[in-house]
Amino acid sequence: METNLPVPARALAVGAHPDDVEFGCGATLAKWAASGCEIFHLICTDGSKGTWDPTYDPAELVVTRRHEQRAASLALGGKGEVTFLGWPDGELEAGLRQRFEVAVAIRRLKPEVVLGHDPWKRYRLHPDHRNAGFLVTDGIVAARDPLFFPELADLPHRPRTLLLFEADEADHLEDVSAFVDAKLAALLEHKSQLRSTMGITATGAAGGEEHLEVVAFKRRVTDRLTAQGLAEGFAAAEAFKRIDNL
Ligand SMILES: [Zn+2]
Repeated sequence: METNLPVPARALAVGAHPDDVEFGCGATLAKWAASGCEIFHLICTDGSKGTWDPTYDPAELVVTRRHEQRAASLALGGKGEVTFLGWPDGELEAGLRQRFEVAVAIRRLKPEVVLGHDPWKRYRLHPDHRNAGFLVTDGIVAARDPLFFPELADLPHRPRTLLLFEADEADHLEDVSAFVDAKLAALLEHKSQLRSTMGITATGAAGGEEHLEVVAFKRRVTDRLTAQGLAEGFAAAEAFKRIDNL
């Protein structure tokens, strides 16, 4: 198991939906941001199906989730710099147009490290997560090779490392022992997702205490980070498939 990349100057995390980046690599981004790394989000879909409430106006949900995603970036220590591609939630395709958009972002932002969904995770059902993963790998190839999209003004850019979260075969750990709270705070900025994704129907309880559902959610996330850290003796870790020599 490899551990702890050198802190990059710039990192770009690509998620299918608002909140995926926080689940997948939020604590790692928080750790790097605390050491001066510029962190950027790229969100492929508009998140417009992310509710169990059939009366919720999808257009309103899109606006809400953009605000929440920027707030989550700030909670991680970023500047709220989020690129929204705006493809319809649940209908993301890994096509040439989408690949172009990801390559544009990579060439513009010039990240040393790119993070994204593992497209090869077995038995994954949600097509957006699979396709967002392929858009990262395909987008890197198109960003680095000069004859792809020659109409782009920005010069080709080759990131140093790709980290895939939700990895089918993790081989790299980031020690995030001091950044669990930042990850939890960023996750809880996705307030529209508390019920459907996080199992939280209420946040407050009597006496100003956190609701038991919030406590339980935090415990679930923390327990997973703790379990992932065991292999290398870290109190908490995020796990990735690491690809160098891009
Ligand atoms: Zn998602």
